[in-house]
Amino acid sequence: MPTAFITLLTSEPYVAGALVLAQTLKNELHTKHKLAILLDPTGISPKSLELIKLIYDDIIPIDDKLINGSLKEVIAKLGRDELNVTFTKILLWNQIQYSKLVYLDSDTLPLKNLDHLFELYKDTEAHEIVASPDIGWPDIFNSGLLILTPDEQIHKELVLFSGIQDASFDGADQGLLNEFFHLKPKESNSTSKKWIRLPFVYNVTPSDNYQYLPALTRFFKDINLLHFIGQFKPWHTKVNSSTLESDSRLHALWWEKFNKYYTEESD
Ligand code: UDP
Ligand code: MN
Repeated sequence: MPTAFITLLTSEPYVAGALVLAQTLKNELHTKHKLAILLDPTGISPKSLELIKLIYDDIIPIDDKLINGSLKEVIAKLGRDELNVTFTKILLWNQIQYSKLVYLDSDTLPLKNLDHLFELYKDTEAHEIVASPDIGWPDIFNSGLLILTPDEQIHKELVLFSGIQDASFDGADQGLLNEFFHLKPKESNSTSKKWIRLPFVYNVTPSDNYQYLPALTRFFKDINLLHFIGQFKPWHTKVNSSTLESDSRLHALWWEKFNKYYTEESD
């Protein structure tokens, strides 16, 4: 069965992120795997959709067909639009045409080829999730990079779980997925949910609030993937590599790729 890198796109502002992510995986890092994208066509302009179609191999529209009855009920019951992303991430487990997925947020920038993850974790099962620790609370995982096994039963359980009031402690997908795969399961048997910890270098989240700068310098060459968490995304402000501040320097890596593939005449 096929495997793929997959991302999520629900609104226009993240289009640039999704495009740069795909160009980087395909044309910079030469992945052998397919690139898939779960997207909400109602949130994206026709022009952006055209660009997405040029670089992604598999476009999976989030439509009525995909959002089944029970998920619709949960969304209606909670009536909170901002939970959109939370619930669409659950749809990853519904993609049973794939045997394994490496999910990446569209605000991530891989610096190294990640194909070895499929090989390393090919034997993980549907009740297991592979992810790096979160910088703000390293005892839980960050949901910007996930290695997962699509599975009908787990998808169903996730939909039911998401319908429980306050199922997510942060109101977002990260809280929900940590409760489901990591914090709630107390029993210990062969099928109990389990977080398998990936090193931090697979999901490095430079943040305004906290940066361990000497470590960033010491381990920079080992970073597999950068993840621009928080409200300030690289595409919000143009920067170039001559900028000295460390945050902008990392954003400049993203702009390098954007300029290469999407600006005719970069200055
Ligand atoms: N996303 C999107 N449109 C939005 C919000 C989120 O397409 O308006 C997708 C996108 O793939 C994004 C992911 O959901 O990377 C998770 O959101 P975000 O990266 O903003 O969360 P953070 O990593 O900052 O916690
Ligand atoms: Mn993110």
